[in-house]
Amino acid sequence: MKKNLDASWDTILSDIKEKLNDAEFYKWIKDLKILTFESNIITLKADNKFIKSWVEDKYLTKLKSALKEFYHLECDIKIVLSDITHQKKAPVQGNSQIEITKDDTDVDYYSVQLNKDYTFNTFVAGKSNQFAFSVCKSAAEGFDKLNNPIYIYGDVGLGKTHLMHAVGNQIRLNFPKKRVFCITGQLYKDEFLTSLKKMQMDSFKEKYSAIDVLLFDDVEKIVGGAGSTMEEFFFLFSKLYSDEKQIIITSNALPEESIGMDKRLKSRFAGGLIAHIGVPSVDEKVTILKSFTTQYGRTMSDEILYYLAENIKSDSTRDLIGAANSAFVQSKFHNVELTIEFLQNNISSLLIKRDKTLTPQDIIDIISEYFRIKLVDLKSPSRSKNIVIPRNLAIYLIYKNTPSSLKGIGEIFNRDHSTIKNSISKIEQDIENNDLYTVNTLNELSKKMKIFSAK
Ligand code: ADP
Ligand code: MG
Repeated sequence: MKKNLDASWDTILSDIKEKLNDAEFYKWIKDLKILTFESNIITLKADNKFIKSWVEDKYLTKLKSALKEFYHLECDIKIVLSDITHQKKAPVQGNSQIEITKDDTDVDYYSVQLNKDYTFNTFVAGKSNQFAFSVCKSAAEGFDKLNNPIYIYGDVGLGKTHLMHAVGNQIRLNFPKKRVFCITGQLYKDEFLTSLKKMQMDSFKEKYSAIDVLLFDDVEKIVGGAGSTMEEFFFLFSKLYSDEKQIIITSNALPEESIGMDKRLKSRFAGGLIAHIGVPSVDEKVTILKSFTTQYGRTMSDEILYYLAENIKSDSTRDLIGAANSAFVQSKFHNVELTIEFLQNNISSLLIKRDKTLTPQDIIDIISEYFRIKLVDLKSPSRSKNIVIPRNLAIYLIYKNTPSSLKGIGEIFNRDHSTIKNSISKIEQDIENNDLYTVNTLNELSKKMKIFSAK
């Protein structure tokens, strides 16, 4: 019975995760375990009081409405503590306040905001993030004045938060006594203003000044609003910096281009190591997708991964992963194979719109120009290698990119449908075996097709 309950709860969690684009919410609820479901009350177990209050304050309403929306389940949710011994530690007051007891275990409470899934192992390094990746790796191996502060900037969804948490997780492993604290600019501002209002500035300052590693996400969010958040942050920054504590900051802009940011802070940031994260190339996108699909057991063919990487409208890696995930879940839900046609029909709003649809003749023209082969040769019975390869590629691309049937393609190439099928299988096999020549050529050809159809 309990096993069934666990399994249902796991299903609920994974459904909620698929449907809610809210990593923060999922992060907090995924470690709650289900105890009972009786008389329309779900009882969940939290590992400590801090998690309990945090979820109660911030996510309970959301969780309830998700259950209602997805399952028409109207129920109450109770959260209890799993272990009485935890209750004395980490007393919590207010919503975003984290009060910490000053004993050895407080390192755990400082690190409670770290996302355990964001590690170096799950981060794909490439041209677009190489420098940021290297400085973060080295910061995780040990403190070096020259590596401080690290300022990572770039557009949304490109991996800044992931990389910063990876440093935090690695430092926790390498230096278990260090207090690694991670906070977003927005939460810091909220917490500062609440502490000010409640006249709890002493404990606020005490908590922050005890940090060994400060991971400060989306620093641009401290700009604006009432009060002197930036002033307070300037003092904190200066203190930690002069105490030789590691500081990592992420932002959406270069220090000098940060609108509204305090001048002194801008100049402090500019004195650090500045690392940009850019948009990944198609190959990097494919590697990121492979890492994601392997990590979450969402197997997809290279063909689909390349198609997604090449055709995704958004530059954000978050959206790229989201698109792959959505396509995978939908194909499972409909119980059909994940093909390019399926992507075109089911996630078209996420993909680049082609102004012009390609015809079989367009593809033949692209191929004959690329390989410098005459059209008659492509359609001829010749079995010479330098004709067979382009012909197979043309057949494959026509089959994948136009609504032509095997029979229809056969008519173009003067062949029967089983020969056409063999040509397609040959290319599919090459892709599966990761045959470099075929994969690279297909890459080049699809770039040309993309340019052609955008004309
Ligand atoms: P940002 O903080 O820049 O907005 P995130 O760090 O939140 O971006 O990344 C968005 C999503 O994309 C996360 O799920 C993250 O794991 C993933 N991601 C981004 N870049 C990479 C990468 N290089 N390797 C693996 N996953 C990545
Ligand atoms: Mg982020």
